[in-house]
Amino acid sequence: MTPEQHPENQTMHAVVATSAGGPEVLRHDTVDVPSPGPHDVLVRVAAAGVNFIDTYRRSGVYSIDYPSILGSEGSGVVEAVGSEVSDVAVGDHVAWSDAPSSYAELVVVPAARTLRVPGDVDLQVAAALPLQGMTAHYLATSTYPLGPGDTALVHAGAGGVGLLLTQLATARGARVLTTVSTEEKAALSRAAGASEAISYREMSDLTTELPARVRELTDGAGVHVVYDSVGKDTFDASLASLRRRGMLVLFGGSSGQVPPVDLQRLNSGGSLFVTRPTLGDHVATREELLLRSGELFDAVQAGTLDVRIEHTYPLAEAAEAHRALEGRRTTGKVLLVP
Ligand code: NDP
Repeated sequence: MTPEQHPENQTMHAVVATSAGGPEVLRHDTVDVPSPGPHDVLVRVAAAGVNFIDTYRRSGVYSIDYPSILGSEGSGVVEAVGSEVSDVAVGDHVAWSDAPSSYAELVVVPAARTLRVPGDVDLQVAAALPLQGMTAHYLATSTYPLGPGDTALVHAGAGGVGLLLTQLATARGARVLTTVSTEEKAALSRAAGASEAISYREMSDLTTELPARVRELTDGAGVHVVYDSVGKDTFDASLASLRRRGMLVLFGGSSGQVPPVDLQRLNSGGSLFVTRPTLGDHVATREELLLRSGELFDAVQAGTLDVRIEHTYPLAEAAEAHRALEGRRTTGKVLLVP
């Protein structure tokens, strides 16, 4: 890297979590531009993805050191490359799911974690895909590989992961039931392919009412798999919605984390399975990272995957983006645009 390529000693804007807490701990600050190491690239961020995991890191549910620049997902244009980087060049359009400090104007991304964005894919769409898209991909293809004849229940069906997972699941021939909190969300979820979008927010006893509705819709049998990202509020209802030998995939805790579970419940529930997967274990190798992201970009280019960017905020309004996401006011993808 030449000195001209590397804007050392320059400053940029970034969103810093000053301590563990609510959205008010996020500060739009001026910080030093980071320096890429020999295997890294420096990217000018076009858009940073806002994900639920950012709220866990901000609130302290997942521990990080404070102060810390938040964010892990985004897309942008490569501005400088490290001395050992040969397969990414200045000017390339790239995206990533796991580069810390992405809520910023510039971010350092390990070259091995970059995804090349095809020329005809918009950079905002590219920022919306890596984390939620590859999550939807591993859930539908690896954790419980869906196929024709399967019925899945997807909670928060109009959310970022929910809309993508519903489309990937139906593309594989599965029937999808979803839960949603509003009529607007129900319409979006059905447009993504859900055969039923069940309104669960007004249920007075979710644990009995939701499984009863699911059984009505499945001839009394229950579903083969529940993809549950809501967690604390839905876990019991999810278990009770499964058919014999069904699988509960707990992959998030938007309503709070699930307390310890008595494994005997899996026995009495019908020889059930429960798993708690995470994206990192499904894109750990470069090969798997490129396979999942490649299939997603292919689907976008083919017009078979609709990526809905419903909310964009300036970087300075990250706190408001967090309030909207945590307040159940968002659908599809939320982005910060520096
Ligand atoms: P979403 O867009 O799905 O937003 C969360 C949604 O959850 C809300 O819109 C809301 O939908 C629903 N929800 C239900 N109860 C609550 C509550 N009490 N508070 C807030 N929201 C609630 O977010 P993401 O797509 O970014 O993430 C979805 C989930 O997936 C998160 O839990 C996240 O941690 C998890 N995740 C897990 C990964 C993994 O590999 N394990 C990777 C990526 C995401 P509604 O109003 O319809 O109920």
